Amino acid sequence: MSGIFGVVSKEDCIGDVSKGAFYLQNRAESYCGMAWKNSDDRLDSSPHKGLFRENFDNRKLEEISGNYAIGCVTGSREPVSEYSKNGEMLLCFDGNIANHDELLSGMLKRGASFSGYHNPEEVSDAVLISKMIAKESSFDKGIENLFNDVKGDFSIVALTRGGVYAARGWGRKPLILGGKDGAYAVSSESVSFINTGFDIFRDVKPGEVVYLGDGGIESVRQFDVDEIFGTFEWVYTAHPASVIDGRSVKLARNAIGGGLAKRYPVDADVVSPVPNSGRNHAEGYSAASGIPYNEVFAKFDYCGRSFTPNTLEEQNAVADEKLIPVRAVIEGNRIIVVDDSIVKGNQTRRQTGRLRENGAKEVHARIACPPLMAKCDYGKAIKQDEQCIARTMSLDEIRRTRGLDSLEYATFEDLESAIGKPLDKLCTDCWGR
Ligand code: SF4
Repeated sequence: MSGIFGVVSKEDCIGDVSKGAFYLQNRAESYCGMAWKNSDDRLDSSPHKGLFRENFDNRKLEEISGNYAIGCVTGSREPVSEYSKNGEMLLCFDGNIANHDELLSGMLKRGASFSGYHNPEEVSDAVLISKMIAKESSFDKGIENLFNDVKGDFSIVALTRGGVYAARGWGRKPLILGGKDGAYAVSSESVSFINTGFDIFRDVKPGEVVYLGDGGIESVRQFDVDEIFGTFEWVYTAHPASVIDGRSVKLARNAIGGGLAKRYPVDADVVSPVPNSGRNHAEGYSAASGIPYNEVFAKFDYCGRSFTPNTLEEQNAVADEKLIPVRAVIEGNRIIVVDDSIVKGNQTRRQTGRLRENGAKEVHARIACPPLMAKCDYGKAIKQDEQCIARTMSLDEIRRTRGLDSLEYATFEDLESAIGKPLDKLCTDCWGR
C-alpha cells in the first residue's frame, strides 16, 4: 500500500504537499518522498527510507520551493524519475503489478534499458510502470498500456514540467480530487484535504486519467473498465476521517460493527476494540447492542502498525509492545473484543491470553470481515495464502486455539450494506470468494 499526493498551485505549494503526504502515513511506513518543479523549471526529487516527518522536517522544507509538487509514502523508493519524448516525469505509485516479472522480462527482451539497477529484483513496480508510460507519445497513451498489459491494480500521480497527471486503475486503489484558492490537489485519501484546507471535489473514476494544470483539473481520458472497489480500504486500510467513493470510512466501520451486534449478540459487560484498527467497528457494536464501550488495551502510540514489519517475529514483537492491558477495565468483566480481521491469529491468541491474565471472566471476539483466505494481488497486505489461518482451521478450532469463548465474523452482506455498494462491485479476492 502507498499514499500519493500532488498539487498544482499559483503559489508555493511545498507546505501543502508535505502535509498532504504526511496525512497519508497510515498507508505505508517504509519509504517516503517528494518531487517538485523549481523556479528555474527543473524537476527535483528527494526520496528517503522511513517516515515522512522524520525526513521532511521544517529545515528540509525551507530548502524546497515550487508551485507544482507531488509527495508519497510508499513501500519502495519513490518518486521515480523517467525520461520520455515528452520530457522528464517523476512518478509515485499505489498498487501492485502481479505480473511484474513477466512484463519486465518482455521489456528486457525488447531492449528496454534499466540503467542504475544492478539486477531485476531492484526494479520496483513504480520503475516498471514509469517505463511503460514513458515509452508512449503521451501520458494517457502510456496509461492505456497499463490497462492492456497489467494484472493487478494501481493509482498514480506523476509530475511533469507542465503539471501533474493522475490516473486510477480499476478502482481498488482510491484517488480523490480537491481544490482551494488557485490550487488543485489529488490524493489517495480525502483525509489529506481536511487540515490543508482543500475542499473535496470528487473521486477520480476507475479508468480515468486527469491532468492538474494552471487552468484547473481536466479529465483527459476515460477508459472503459469494469470498476471494482477495494473493500479492505473501508475495513482497515484507509484513515477513518476519509470518504472513499462517496462513503465515509468511519461510518462504514460503525455500520459493520452494528451489523455484527445484530447478527451475533452476546451478553457482556464491555465492548472494546483492538486499538486502533477495531475502534470504529467496536463503536458501532456498542451503539447497536447497548453494551458500554471501553478500551481494554491502551495503545502505546510510538510503535508502528504491526503489519509493517516484514517477519512474523517482528510483527509479534511490535504487537506485544504496542498494546498495554488496562486491568481496571478488564478484571471481572465479560468482554467483547472487536478487531478488523484475523490473518494468522497469533495476535488474537496473545491478546486473549493477556485479558485472561488480567482477570477477564469471558472473552468474545467479533471480526469486521469474513475469514481471510488468500493473499492480495493488488497490494501486499497478505504476502502468501498460507499465512491465512482460516485456510487450515475451522472457525471452532480457531476459537478454541485462541482461547476465546466465542468467535464470529462479519458476512459479505454486512460489508455490502455497510459500504453501500453491490457485492459484485466490491473486491473480495482476499476472502477467496
Ligand atoms: S484482495 Fe482484499 S486487500 Fe486486496 S484489493 Fe481486494 S479487497 Fe483489497
